[in-house]
Amino acid sequence: MIVVMKASSNNENVQQVLTFLGKHGLTGHPSEGVERTVIGVLGGVGPSGTPGGIGGINPSIGESIEGMPGVESVLRVSKPYKLASREFHPEDTIVNIPVPYVSSGSVGVGGSEVVMMAGPCTVESEQQLMTTAEAVRKEGAVILRGGAFKPSTSPYGFRGLGEEGLKLLAKARSEFGMAIITEVMTPTDVAMVSEYADILQIGTRNMQNYILLDEVGRTQKPVVLKRGMSATIEEWLLAAEYILAHGNRNVILCERGIRTFEKITRNTMDISAIPLIKTLSHLPIISDPSQGTGRRDLVGPMSLASLAAGTDGLLIEVHPNPDEALKDGAQSLTIEQFRELMPQAEAIASAIGRKFVKA
Ligand code: PEP
Ligand code: MN
Repeated sequence: MIVVMKASSNNENVQQVLTFLGKHGLTGHPSEGVERTVIGVLGGVGPSGTPGGIGGINPSIGESIEGMPGVESVLRVSKPYKLASREFHPEDTIVNIPVPYVSSGSVGVGGSEVVMMAGPCTVESEQQLMTTAEAVRKEGAVILRGGAFKPSTSPYGFRGLGEEGLKLLAKARSEFGMAIITEVMTPTDVAMVSEYADILQIGTRNMQNYILLDEVGRTQKPVVLKRGMSATIEEWLLAAEYILAHGNRNVILCERGIRTFEKITRNTMDISAIPLIKTLSHLPIISDPSQGTGRRDLVGPMSLASLAAGTDGLLIEVHPNPDEALKDGAQSLTIEQFRELMPQAEAIASAIGRKFVKA
């Protein structure tokens, strides 16, 4: 339920509504807009049917609130996802990531600036990671990607260095001051991966692993939630809702392509998801044109298209020698290609009034 306050309402009116909600075992979350305040109401049934969630609020409570001073209207959230919806939270959410080497000490994903995240698909060795980190940082990346726990379609494929890979990522962070994003695949690994990572990545194959979503929801770590390869937008936002419903509001969505009948590309990048998500949700959205296309030659154009469509960030695979990469070499940019892409990306960002976060 959402309480829309009148533009002329004052703080006292908001407090009265909050007190009334409290008396009925509900919690109000005011969000102050430019014109008016909107109060999102939580109560009823929560994740796994527990109390404290958002479902099943008695309609008579809404009717009583409608008569209170300063209240314009009371709306039911029409979408099946609530906390993730734009109705519930009209203002954009900005997820802050600590980045030691930028002057302010952190970057916001979902604000006016665009964030570049780049690095190898998979951490392979210290030398591979450090070379890539240094190079992408030099070109303007502030967040370093690299998988230590890798989902592999084939059981014979490389599945990552595990904790050893996380240690290398931590070493790269202390050397270069970049934040680290890396995938977590199981609920039991969440605590351990969180010790090393600044952002937890939930991969496409795990978007509907609800036990994993519950677990990352119990942390306060920023989470990048990849779109499931066959997930609808609604299923994706409901997956985000799992994380939000546990109290972790630091969710960043990531469009990474979906399965279609097309075989020439690995996935079909749904660029329209970017502006669409902006209308349906307040959550930031980034774009991964590497998994999205599976082809190095398409990563640049799809990065630019994502920027033009309003992405809040890019997640790009870069490898010092893609032909020898243990994973995803075909879709990894060379360092040189990444260097060439950055000024083009900056030009598109500035054409729509945005710029990349800089150190
Ligand atoms: C990746 O980022 O390397 C990856 C495995 O992503 P996805 O889960 O989107 O396939
Ligand atoms: Mn990859």
